[in-house]
Amino acid sequence: MIKLSSLNIANRNLVIRVDMNVPIKEGDVQDLTRIKACLPTINYALDQDAKILLVSHLGRPTEGTYEEIFSLKPVAKAASEIFGQRVEVIESIEDPAIFHGNSSIQLLENIRFFDGEKANTEELGDKLGNLGDLYVFDAFGTSHREQASTHSSIIHANAACSGILLEKEIEALTKALNNTQKPYTAIIGGAKVSTKLELIKNINSKADHVIVGGGIANTFIKAAGYEVGQSLIEESMVTIAKELLDQGKVILPEKVITSETFEGKNISERGISDVGINEMILDQLVSEKIKDIVLGSKTILWNGPLGVFENDYFSKGTEELSKEIAKSNGFSIAGGGETLSAINKFINKDDVSYCSTGGGAFLEFMEGKDLPSIQALKAKTYR
Ligand code: AMP
Repeated sequence: MIKLSSLNIANRNLVIRVDMNVPIKEGDVQDLTRIKACLPTINYALDQDAKILLVSHLGRPTEGTYEEIFSLKPVAKAASEIFGQRVEVIESIEDPAIFHGNSSIQLLENIRFFDGEKANTEELGDKLGNLGDLYVFDAFGTSHREQASTHSSIIHANAACSGILLEKEIEALTKALNNTQKPYTAIIGGAKVSTKLELIKNINSKADHVIVGGGIANTFIKAAGYEVGQSLIEESMVTIAKELLDQGKVILPEKVITSETFEGKNISERGISDVGINEMILDQLVSEKIKDIVLGSKTILWNGPLGVFENDYFSKGTEELSKEIAKSNGFSIAGGGETLSAINKFINKDDVSYCSTGGGAFLEFMEGKDLPSIQALKAKTYR
């Protein structure tokens, strides 16, 4: 894969596909992580006096239609503060001001407002890919999508390369996927087995221990033959959960927190064999066995909370677990939106060796899939 650092970009015009798909409330960006993650590539380009046109999507507007709530203007405002200079918003790909404005950093309006993005058309890909001298792909978070700005643009660009964030992501995730130091422990929590089945299967074949949490744990608890009452489980996944359990790597919680409602009616601490038929398992306690495993691991992969951690009544398991990961000396890697918000809530992000900016892309990479943008970049050769 051609790296940005291997090319001469002095005074060149760069189109950089970034992932600035951030949460916005009443015109204000709520979480700056993804914007800050673009800094290494942007600073590198600015240091070489390159001009930059950033391209990103935001949310899910109707394709080809401008919708104010999905405008990137609030992102440009936040990015201007982070980058220390004005980020100028460009509304049209045909705008002659592209690379000729007063600012060295411009941001194209939400790429999903443009016809052809979702359909991955050659026309839009060609236009985007060759708008500048070089197409830099740095949007790891969208590298699993086959769209014009993430796929066709790379294919049709005269010159395309990976950005610094993408390189960092690939390096860290590959380390957790293929070059793992053992013991290797994966923690997979969250709502549903079905959305993470491929991940669980792939990781189960590589890791020494798979700690399950959240609704996922509930399905495994049921597969182990225990009563789960009214808990969120997936009946269709019980058989496969049983097969995975029989392979001996999955570790179930010993104690869980139950309640009769999500609001916290009759909260109780129960052994996993003592859950009542009117109860829901909404959190779990981190057992001594799990603590020992986490602390003794050389590699830790974490995706998904152990309980309904958004509610303080049911956040204890996720909090305890994140603190154990923070204490561990192993290489720890975390990914997924909920997981990162748990990390931000309970520990210092720097206590985790690597936090991926990807949600879906992180899961698919860890499932062992070839992501379309990365595949397209690998096929590019030096001119
Ligand atoms: P995911 O996106 O699959 O990682 O799922 C995260 C969501 O799972 C969070 O919003 C949690 O509230 C939810 N969750 C975690 N544990 C449970 C549980 N025991 N029952 C229901 N939902 C849960």
